[in-house]
Amino acid sequence: MLSFFPTLYPDELLYSTLARYHIRSGNKNFKQTDLELFGYSSQQVCKVTLTNNLNYLVKNLPLRSQQTVDNLLQNHTLYPFYATFLIPQEAWLLKDSMSKKLSGSILEVAKVATGSSGESKKFLKFCPKCLEEDTQQYGEPYWHRTHQVPGILFCPIHGVVLCDSCVAVESKGIHYYAASLDNCLVITDVKSFTNQALKTLLTLTNDINLLIHSNFAFKGLVWLRTQYQRYLVNKGLLQIFPGGKFKFDEYAFSKLIFDFYGQESLEALNPKLTQHQGKYFSHCLLGCDLNPAIDRITHILMVKFLANSIEAFFQ
Ligand SMILES: [Zn+2]
Repeated sequence: MLSFFPTLYPDELLYSTLARYHIRSGNKNFKQTDLELFGYSSQQVCKVTLTNNLNYLVKNLPLRSQQTVDNLLQNHTLYPFYATFLIPQEAWLLKDSMSKKLSGSILEVAKVATGSSGESKKFLKFCPKCLEEDTQQYGEPYWHRTHQVPGILFCPIHGVVLCDSCVAVESKGIHYYAASLDNCLVITDVKSFTNQALKTLLTLTNDINLLIHSNFAFKGLVWLRTQYQRYLVNKGLLQIFPGGKFKFDEYAFSKLIFDFYGQESLEALNPKLTQHQGKYFSHCLLGCDLNPAIDRITHILMVKFLANSIEAFFQ
């Protein structure tokens, strides 16, 4: 049993608390910390945001700890984000996989696209203002969970652009790096956005936050595709003929969705969205149930564009 464990700060990523534990433990290497916390050293590439073996950790916490696996999952990992667009059984499987010692890939269970598409390396993000305020309030900075959610480019508290730290999110090697002034370097040429893009991206931040904190029971990707078709028919972009044949006005659709979000916002979220005249969107629209990985951000953009409201669409 651990002799101590740091108290989790509001919206702190669990990895961040583990990293603060590492510092206080005085352990000479990360592996020793891993063994103390989890009883073994995990090679999961995504354990920074989707930490597994939580049952062991919680049982191992000091006697008076009130901590629960559920609280850690819901409030201190990216589980709620990845649980979106998973049907209840799949979400349960993800939860179960994170609770136990996992031998397979958590990314597969969470249906996350792996970095094979040549995406740039991802780093833990931070908000310069939170960094400053947390240091004042708690005596140390920490990694916020919300800042690590894909598609969230702004700090929801301060409305400023999040910066990349130099701590990699996906890594085969074990590491526990607490946020610090050394790895959170504030660069002066922060990306700036036009007011229009700023508004769009801030709205998206709020939508993603809403989705994470809501409890919609997702009905599956086939259902999702049928919903998309229904909205497209209503918008006059899709015609369905007897026998299952259909005609989709891809050009008009791309134009409308590009106008709705603006090139700049889409580029900032994922450059793939603006390439090849919106083919990526169309692929998600009409073939989403064929792909083993789910691009949640593209779906959120689509839902908002088609239904104008995330809540209305899912209820
Ligand atoms: Zn902030």
